[in-house]
Amino acid sequence: MASNKTGIQWTDKSWNPTTGCDKVSPGCTHCYAEALTKRFTNNFPEGFILKLHPERLKQPLSWRTPNLIFVNSMSDIFHEDVPINFIKQVFEIIGETPWHIYQILTKRHERLVDIAPELEWHENIWIGVSVESQNYVHRVDYLREVDANVRFLSCEPLLGDLELNLTGIDWVIVGGESGNKYRPMKEEWVKGIYKQCQAANVAFFFKQWGGRTPKSLGRIFDGKVWDEMPEVWEKHQQKWRGYRVESKRKSRKEKINV
Ligand code: SF4
Repeated sequence: MASNKTGIQWTDKSWNPTTGCDKVSPGCTHCYAEALTKRFTNNFPEGFILKLHPERLKQPLSWRTPNLIFVNSMSDIFHEDVPINFIKQVFEIIGETPWHIYQILTKRHERLVDIAPELEWHENIWIGVSVESQNYVHRVDYLREVDANVRFLSCEPLLGDLELNLTGIDWVIVGGESGNKYRPMKEEWVKGIYKQCQAANVAFFFKQWGGRTPKSLGRIFDGKVWDEMPEVWEKHQQKWRGYRVESKRKSRKEKINV
């Protein structure tokens, strides 16, 4: 896709060093990334097959002001066909750009934990797992094993009630499914997660109710918008507020003076 902007409320930009994926659980059934590859066939001539894009690795270096960056909105970086050396290169770029925050979300909790010790968990990485139903809460136990600054859950599309152990978790995102075949989300499921976040002092972000389009049913829960962020977010913003990487290109005036 030409633009890296995203309509996802909890991030600013997406960065896709890989595209394509394979479905692993019921949360994948109406995968949004797959739908985009079908809609924009010119941009995705290989369809939804896993593809590495080494030419995109340096993209974040050219984003000169701080951004929240969703890594692989079109894929899963811990997909079994992504070589560990490629994942290491992604992490290296993250380390070179501390003014950005990188949100990495996976459904491959086992591979995440297997290779986590070989990766450098820079302070600006937020690592998360998807938990769509009670059958997948074990992903949270795997996530807890990763020594990252921020660990988060994406409970989207939420397909049922969840009983969570939120020890060591900093942030929970909840959202209903959108699209023609959306599976409706019950208010009581959202309430249950909200209460658990309150009890555990974990930031709660309510993304959307879902429906035929992401905006169909809005994003008001219990009378308000819930855009809570992990505690470290405030600190990061304070540290990098107003920051701008100097451009290596010279202005016309500078060129004349040389
Ligand atoms: S893991 Fe994510 S990107 Fe991959 S098929 Fe499932 S929903 Fe789509």
